[in-house]
Amino acid sequence: MVAIPSSPPASREVVRTAIVPVTLSGGDYRRAHDAHHVAAGLWDQGVDWVHGEWKVKHNPGKYDIRAFLTSLPREQRPLCAQTTEAIAHDLHEAIKTSRTNRKNGIKVRSPWRKKNCRPLSFSKHFGRRVRSDNKLNLSLGRAIPGIVLGLPAITDSVTGELVSPELWGEIQLCWDQDNRQFSLHIPYSSRRMFSAGKAVTAIDEGIINPMALATWVDGQTINVTIINGREARAIKRQRNKATGRLQSKMSKTKNGSRKHRLVAATKRTKGKTRLQLRDFDHQVARKAANHVIAHKTGRLVAGDVRGIEYKTKQKRRMGRQQLSQFSRGTQVLYLAEKTGLDIEHLNESGSTKTCPVCAARNCPSGRDHRCKVCKFTCHRDALGAINILQEAIHGSYVPIGADVVIRVTYLRDALRWSPVQCNTHRMVQCRKAITLGSAKNQASAGETLSSKAKLAISSTSSLERVPLAAVA
Ligand SMILES: [Zn+2]
Repeated sequence: MVAIPSSPPASREVVRTAIVPVTLSGGDYRRAHDAHHVAAGLWDQGVDWVHGEWKVKHNPGKYDIRAFLTSLPREQRPLCAQTTEAIAHDLHEAIKTSRTNRKNGIKVRSPWRKKNCRPLSFSKHFGRRVRSDNKLNLSLGRAIPGIVLGLPAITDSVTGELVSPELWGEIQLCWDQDNRQFSLHIPYSSRRMFSAGKAVTAIDEGIINPMALATWVDGQTINVTIINGREARAIKRQRNKATGRLQSKMSKTKNGSRKHRLVAATKRTKGKTRLQLRDFDHQVARKAANHVIAHKTGRLVAGDVRGIEYKTKQKRRMGRQQLSQFSRGTQVLYLAEKTGLDIEHLNESGSTKTCPVCAARNCPSGRDHRCKVCKFTCHRDALGAINILQEAIHGSYVPIGADVVIRVTYLRDALRWSPVQCNTHRMVQCRKAITLGSAKNQASAGETLSSKAKLAISSTSSLERVPLAAVA
């Protein structure tokens, strides 16, 4: 059995953001749409003003930007005050980030691009109000009717408890251009388990299996978790086919043949798959994080596959498209976020070719590695992870003993939600608050997983975002 630590791992306060799609009706839709453009115009004016100030050798701070924006006549900004505040803050942050990046040698410009739409912000004290009839009122400024929505029922994806609107942070109403849909982004703080301990876990990243993780349990056993990613590949292939079909149709269009419909269809397809793949990356990272936390890992080491997209020789590439759509960067970022650990990168050359028992070099062709010398047989990705683990501990591929037990657990990624999850997250339409009971995400846990680990998998929600990307 997997050794589950007796003392609970460290937990920390984190900010999560629930994304709730909302459907707005005629008047509300129009007003929200106009307000998004007005907010974008305000941003543009702020950018122009800052550039003008720089020309006269003046460097405006956050409060200067805010003072300029609020000095504009009220008719020019029919928005709630909180949105103006957020624009001043975001613009200042963007300028600061570009300065830091330039200092670090990255070539970037300060904000200059004209925006088409910008999210609207509503805080607890400015802009949003919960009405007595359990509706959410979003203000669009004085003398303009606000937007009225059903009150979304947000549940903490770890505890399953309802998060009351009093505890929400600054919420945003965003427009997804590709999916042509509004959504509410609602941040709330929550406690999350992090990994604490001394064990070393190695990660081997791949395309068919996004992650394989290996950890020594005691001197005699290595636990390996392999997370399968075939469904994500299917989704990508489907998307490429669909966009390819639309592209070929577009190339045949003539004047007046309403090409914009095909453009919109392409965007919709891409937008939809983007959400599905984001969910998939979170699921992979969550399953990997469960392994890491259960084994009390203190050091996370990954084989360095950065740059594989262009380093691999053209002849040997498994199809360039496939490699360029390899989403490892995101998954590793999510894993670091979910475990609270930094990820080290090690050279992984030869890790899938070296036999971990006798150190002979083989050339595996299929998914299984079979050593020609000592007849040791193992899954190829598990073997890669074990070799990286040995390299992380000893500095080279030191053979493991012949009597070491390798326990492999296979986890399948699941892209579709269970009916329970669908109901739980269809919140706006729901008048009543639903508490998240046991939302399974159809993970087929291997038989070696204990019930505790299974519980951790089943309570994983897909509606979580990395705080880094919160101000996207
Ligand atoms: Zn061997």
